[in-house]
Parts: sequence; C-alpha cells; structure tokens
Amino acid sequence: MDIDDAVINSVKGFLDKEEGMRLYELAAEVSAKAPCLEIGSYCGKSTLYLGAGCRVNNSVLFAVDHHRGSEEQQPGEEYFDPETFDISAGCMDTFPCFRRTLAMGGLEETVVPVVSRSSVAARMWATPLGLVFIDGGHSLEAAFTDYCNWAGHLIPGGYLAVHDIFRNPEDGGQAPHYVYRLASASGFFDVLPMTRTLGVLKRRECGVMPAVLPEA
Ligand code: MG
Repeated sequence: MDIDDAVINSVKGFLDKEEGMRLYELAAEVSAKAPCLEIGSYCGKSTLYLGAGCRVNNSVLFAVDHHRGSEEQQPGEEYFDPETFDISAGCMDTFPCFRRTLAMGGLEETVVPVVSRSSVAARMWATPLGLVFIDGGHSLEAAFTDYCNWAGHLIPGGYLAVHDIFRNPEDGGQAPHYVYRLASASGFFDVLPMTRTLGVLKRRECGVMPAVLPEA
C-alpha cells in the first residue's frame, strides 16, 4: 500500500484502517481481471485504499457519488459536517474535497469519478466489474437498489463488499446488514470472513445473475 498514513488520516470519512486494508488487498488482487467500482465515495477515504489496489495492476476504479451527501449527512442530521456544505449552492458538495484527496493520493490516472446518483450511473452500465463496494445511501431503499443495480455486473470470482454491517440494531442502521444477508442467501456468493463492519462475498463461478434483480 503505497499511500502515506498521513494522507489517509487527513481525509474525512468513516472507514477503519483495517477495513481499508482489506479493500486494498481485494482490489490489488481482482483488479488484474476487471475494474473496480465503489458507491459512496464521500471525501475519498475508501477511494485511496481501493484506488491504490487498482493501481497495482494499472487498472481503474470507478468512484460513484453525487457528492450531495447521503440522508444522514444533511444539515440537522447526525453526520452533518458544515465544512462540506456549499453555502452559495445551498447544499452539500463533497466533490472539491474528493478531488483534493485524489490529487494527494496521486490517483488521478487511476480513479474515474462518476458524479451521479448511482441509479443513474447504473442505467447504461455494461462493463463487467471485479469488485463492487456498496457504501452509498444507508436507507433500505438506497442500499437495496445499489445491490440490485450493481451486484449483477460482478465477474465470477469478483467481490461484493458492503460497509457498515451492524448485527445489533443498537449499533447502527440495518440496511447494509439486510443487503448482506440478501446476498448471502442468494446462492450467487460465497461468504468470506468479515473485517469489523465490512462484509465480503465472492461471486461464485456458476449461475447467471441478472444485471438488475427483480424486486423482492
Ligand atoms: Mg460507510
């Protein structure tokens, strides 16, 4: 991992170092076969780890985020950060912060920012993916839609990673846990050990998963 701790520690975000290193290792392995994609970049902490992993293979990380903040990051909500609020636009904008992170990490030749709602980015998506990291909106609808829209693009042997899995509802929202259980029960994945709140599943070699799953 060739990005300094000082750079990583300077970036706002909610990713533990151990979780980040797991993402790095997964990306460094699988990006030799296909590009990786993350949903929910925020200020780019996870992007540093995944991007550094993709860079090992001269591959690419698509980083999808509308940069207007998720539900819990809006003014008045639990995870609101006034530094990410664009007063002139009257809304959140984490893209300037994200760009600075890419520059600090030297990742501008590796990371392709996709500044869009993930559901819009998914509409015409056709590129097979080696890894999909779901860390976008944490409402049930947002997390479920991300799973439905993106998991079907994984190559056999590709990884589905889901952040913020709390088994106990008192520790955090349950939407990522719901998606994780849905994927685990789908028959399309082998469940790998978790790293803290990061769930990791590996796409099985058999079966054709629809690109967009029917709603349950
Ligand atoms: Mg997260």
